[in-house]
Amino acid sequence: MTILQNVSLRPYNTFGMDVAATHFTVFNDLQQIQELSSMAWMYPKKYIVGGGSNILLTQPLEGLVIKNEWKGIALVDESDEHVWLQVNAGEIWHDTVLYAISKGWGGMENLSLIPGCVGAAPMQNIGAYGVEVKELIDEVVAWHWEENRFIALKNEDCQFGYRDSIFKQALKEKVLITSVVFRLSKKPKLNTTYGAIQQQLEKMGVHKPTIKTVSDAVIAIRTSKLPNPKDIGNAGSFFKNPVIHKAQFLSLQQQYPAIVGHASGDDTIKVAAGWLIEQAGWKGYKKGAAGVHDKQALVLVNHGGASGMEVYDLSSDIITSVHYQFGIMLEREVQIW
Ligand SMILES: Cc1cc2nc3c(=O)[nH]c(=O)nc-3n(C[C@H](O)[C@H](O)[C@H](O)COP(=O)(O)OP(=O)(O)OC[C@H]3O[C@@H](n4cnc5c(N)ncnc54)[C@H](O)[C@@H]3O)c2cc1C
Repeated sequence: MTILQNVSLRPYNTFGMDVAATHFTVFNDLQQIQELSSMAWMYPKKYIVGGGSNILLTQPLEGLVIKNEWKGIALVDESDEHVWLQVNAGEIWHDTVLYAISKGWGGMENLSLIPGCVGAAPMQNIGAYGVEVKELIDEVVAWHWEENRFIALKNEDCQFGYRDSIFKQALKEKVLITSVVFRLSKKPKLNTTYGAIQQQLEKMGVHKPTIKTVSDAVIAIRTSKLPNPKDIGNAGSFFKNPVIHKAQFLSLQQQYPAIVGHASGDDTIKVAAGWLIEQAGWKGYKKGAAGVHDKQALVLVNHGGASGMEVYDLSSDIITSVHYQFGIMLEREVQIW
């Protein structure tokens, strides 16, 4: 395989940061694993990139950037109720969703149009419109750099949490996810209660929704609400929605009756980070070329020419200001490199 030197990563991250990697290669064939492995010692630091839609590049990368383009989809098992679909990590997430929908297999439709590749989906347990990918994952297969072998983790081994998994924790930077097996439903149960899906379906004149029309509704909502990285650099939600104790939420609610939160456990509430950021006065804020989106305060943007550090510093200022006003510490969702 070819290892290129001093490669600009600008086309490989949706923030559009023009940062160079000392070494860069494309992984598109499972045979390359042995080759990559034999030279792994030369590159103690390895960075796996899929669609680059959940990373912020703040400095030149010393090490080997591996762009995952390993593609392929296979039906590996089937029952009366379900199919098991093995999808290689370099497949585009949204294409996989559309593929499943075209076959009539349900489960992924609420996750339509999330940017990025399949290999990154388990990483932060992607979620949208009331569904998390952990509900669909049967198994994740990955190459373990130190153990020099493939490992297969069943769903329960992945330690999935809200925007979290073992791949962000104990296995962080230790594995290259090569494929994911999804269990999809032949008799889909639609989930249209979350967000504006129902309203959107009515707007579209859909009275008997299907996985296809639910997907269409999600696409329509997302397109109207979220900035397209092709138009303005961003990585979607920059922060996680913080989970706080119910008592703290009730006390905040007295001061801010409009605060937005949903129960996330017996005694905890997940608060809308976008609401907190907006209340703290950041929506539409701009400093140089870094800013906060004017319609969606949870999204930090690169108006063109911002550096990763400028966006990072802005995120730090937001964290400080939200903490000062509400006593809540925001956590970044985006991976900082
Ligand atoms: C406009 C927009 C909207 C978004 N909406 C949502 C949303 O609704 N819900 C949501 O959850 N996310 C959302 N995101 C975030 C992002 O799309 C997801 O996190 C997505 O899964 C990232 O995929 P990627 O391939 O771009 O990952 P990358 O950004 O390339 O990588 C992200 C992390 O995963 C690691 N990684 C990637 N591939 C592999 C692999 N094969 N093996 C090991 N590690 C790997 C990387 O090393 C990095 O740490 C949004 C982003 C944007 C820009």
